[in-house]
Amino acid sequence: MILILLGPPGAGKGTQAQRLEAKHGLVQLSTGDMLRAAVAEGSEVGLKAKVVMDKGELVSDEIMTAIISDRLNEADTKNGVILDGFPRTEAQAASLDEMLATKGLALNAVIEMKTDDDILVERITGRYTCANCGAGYHDSFLKPAVEGVCDKCGGTEFVRRSDDVAETVISRLKAYHEQTAPLLPYYRNKGILKQVDGMTGIDDVTRQIEAELQTI
Ligand code: AMP
Repeated sequence: MILILLGPPGAGKGTQAQRLEAKHGLVQLSTGDMLRAAVAEGSEVGLKAKVVMDKGELVSDEIMTAIISDRLNEADTKNGVILDGFPRTEAQAASLDEMLATKGLALNAVIEMKTDDDILVERITGRYTCANCGAGYHDSFLKPAVEGVCDKCGGTEFVRRSDDVAETVISRLKAYHEQTAPLLPYYRNKGILKQVDGMTGIDDVTRQIEAELQTI
């Protein structure tokens, strides 16, 4: 199964992708995570990407397409993937179609997580993760049971993304509306667009996605 989760930053794509990964044996391909790993390594791609990411803009289609193409050639993706954060432009969507066609594969569904912009700034600026296991938390919506201690691994160090600050979030939302939202009609015309309400609770969004997956 090949799924795309599509929605603005803060819509909950990463959270839902992790749940789908665990339940359906799919592999989450988060281009944001891949870029952050490249930044942490200090690779050439990472150095270029950091400047763009910190401005809330999009990394070039060439770089992104090469990253995803390489990743799709790895053996662990054979049973299916959830694309989280890719494609983000019409050019990336066209490249993905070509990549999949070359492999004799096709997209099963594109799930749009519909959200209102006004809630996203609060969602994004409040989020943080455990530095040890990556579990996600939020200042208001999802606190660890014991303050300062990760529920999952007991870790006591937490990290925030450098682009999760209000000014950058505004640019990221602008990039979404200008460059990524045009993908919605593209996939609707192909008959594979499904929509869920991303404004409800995390468990409810999971239920909606599972219900949509039953229809494919
Ligand atoms: P994300 O973790 O998906 O919010 O991505 C963080 C940042 O990485 C974005 O704001 C972009 O700068 C960059 N990025 C991630 N995926 C892509 C993509 N498919 N195309 C261009 N830039 C991307």
